Amino acid sequence: MSNPKFAWCDGIVPWEDATCHVSSLAFKYGAAVFEGIRAYWDGSNLCIWQLNEHLARLEKGQRFMRFETPFSADHVADAIKQTLNANEFRANVHITATAFLSGPGQPFLCDPASLAITAMARGDFATDGLRVQVSSWRRASDAAQPQRIKSNGNYLNGRLAAVQARVDGYDTALMLGQDGKVSEGPAMCFFMVRNGVVITPDQQSDILESITRDTMITLLREAGHTVQERKVDRSELAMADEAFFCGTAWEVAPIHSIDGLAMPAGSPGPITQTLRSQFDALTQGTDTSHPEWRTYL
Ligand code: PMP
Repeated sequence: MSNPKFAWCDGIVPWEDATCHVSSLAFKYGAAVFEGIRAYWDGSNLCIWQLNEHLARLEKGQRFMRFETPFSADHVADAIKQTLNANEFRANVHITATAFLSGPGQPFLCDPASLAITAMARGDFATDGLRVQVSSWRRASDAAQPQRIKSNGNYLNGRLAAVQARVDGYDTALMLGQDGKVSEGPAMCFFMVRNGVVITPDQQSDILESITRDTMITLLREAGHTVQERKVDRSELAMADEAFFCGTAWEVAPIHSIDGLAMPAGSPGPITQTLRSQFDALTQGTDTSHPEWRTYL
């Protein structure tokens, strides 16, 4: 697949020129926060999915990282739209918007910042069942490196688990927190269904403040399901009838098995299947409810 023509690096630039210096604090220390965002092509329009939610999280992330010159939501929105327009996409697109410390210097500096946007045509990650390994790598804790922030540095933690899972013959990993409770996957949140009740680790389980997780909870509750956000024991994984991961990139991804134990209700299980179909209809615009989640270009 060829690269897009243009990216944003404090302005529209040819793709090849969207670079970050090796002396920058972003490169040396991972001093950056980013968003992964999807835009869906409905045949005639490109629709940015949950743009406002992503812009709000990026603002929070920059604040948390104490950037002295944070980028406003309006500025980032404009940069994303310009990047999409410049590339004239006619397909589903995956966007990243990264605010990063672009200067050299001491690790405690919080300035200057740059904004980078990339957008690439990309299909979905559709899978009928992920074979999941409970990782021996634990999620970094809120007291050490808060996972609720989407900071680039956090991704080493999940990457260790994802690479280990691949090496061991699995598709991906499910991580436990320092307390041994279930946390999340390397780039996705975890849900399981037990006796008809939908269960997901709570926000205090060292997970990202995920937009898709919130969306799943909203859709499930609207459909009349009971959703529990709570601590989840590792042993409960063996009691699950069905399970899935979710996230911007992964959308709704059914889980086939965890540590070799197949989901008794199948993959996808019935609740997962219904939810996935509904989510697809919403993102493709055939279901027009929740207009607040769509920003047309
Ligand atoms: N957890 C992690 C660690 C992630 O990287 C992602 C992807 N952003 C998610 C969960 C899902 O978050 P969201 O629904 O906001 O994409």
